[in-house]
Amino acid sequence: MFCVECGNEPEELRDGLCSECYGKKMQVDIPEHLNIDVCPSCWSVRKGSHWKERPDMHSIMLERIDDAISISPEVKRYAFRAEFIEEDPRNILAAVKVELYSEGIKVERELTSKIILKKDQCPTCSRIHGNYYEAILQIRPSLRELTEEQKEEINYMVHREVEERRGGDRSIFITSKQEMHGGLDFYLSDHGIAKKLSKEISELFGGKVTTSSKLAGRKDGKNLYKMTYSVRIPPYEKGDFIRYKDDIYRIQEIRTSSGHVTLRHVESGKKISLERWEIEDTEVQGGEDLIKEAVVVSETEDEIKVLDPDTYHTKTLLKPKGFKKEGDHVNIIKIGYRIFLTAMEE
Ligand SMILES: [Zn+2]
Ligand SMILES: [Zn+2]
Repeated sequence: MFCVECGNEPEELRDGLCSECYGKKMQVDIPEHLNIDVCPSCWSVRKGSHWKERPDMHSIMLERIDDAISISPEVKRYAFRAEFIEEDPRNILAAVKVELYSEGIKVERELTSKIILKKDQCPTCSRIHGNYYEAILQIRPSLRELTEEQKEEINYMVHREVEERRGGDRSIFITSKQEMHGGLDFYLSDHGIAKKLSKEISELFGGKVTTSSKLAGRKDGKNLYKMTYSVRIPPYEKGDFIRYKDDIYRIQEIRTSSGHVTLRHVESGKKISLERWEIEDTEVQGGEDLIKEAVVVSETEDEIKVLDPDTYHTKTLLKPKGFKKEGDHVNIIKIGYRIFLTAMEE
């Protein structure tokens, strides 16, 4: 039997060829240039229709070569090694050594290809840079502006939640933050997180959440909505003096879990427990800032006479339950023309 190519007479033939001629037919090819799309902002790499975060560039380049290698039909399997020579940060020369196997024959080929890292923004980064948002988290005070402490607390909660979720999901971010109408607006890339935060913030401050949506276009045949979660922070805080049913009470405790508040009737010292909504429209008179010192003129078991610190007129006041005087001054609050003693013990 003769080899149809060279006419030699080997012991065995493959497709009519000696092993040398068969080996010559075993070919491998690789394109001269290979592109890899890299996001210039986060260095994610495109893999088909997906983007791989924090990629190992070495294995990405090996995979890219493997995907691009083409072999002739005579080759049954192959293995390759590659060396990468960085010409500049965007151009890498790959020196590829391929071993081709078939029918007990092994041949080696050496090839080169230039890998070009192309800039292409990944969908997440283009959302971040395109001011993408799905929901607005609105925090609004009922009457006064949010206090600096409230703002700080809310900021902290929003950032902590976003950071935690971002650890596993880069598509979660704060698009922007604005101070509006004495409150705060957070534009968020994910409406699930906006909803969760609205609930947590309302629980912390005893507020109420209202939800609204706005049609923002269509995608894949579905309506897209932008949601607004608005949290109304009640006007009162612990320690505030409020008017409730024509009497003055001090807010002693706000229990967010049960939705109750404990009020202390300033005049009698009696405590009452109410549901939060019952004082929703309350008139807040003020907080700690209302408390003044007044000089004690005389005292009996139930009453105490003090000097009005503004007019220096003597006023007789009933002692609330549990009231104990210390020294010759007492703490009072003035609301309108009325003066109340404030209990030393809360
Ligand atoms: Zn031959
Ligand atoms: Zn990116």
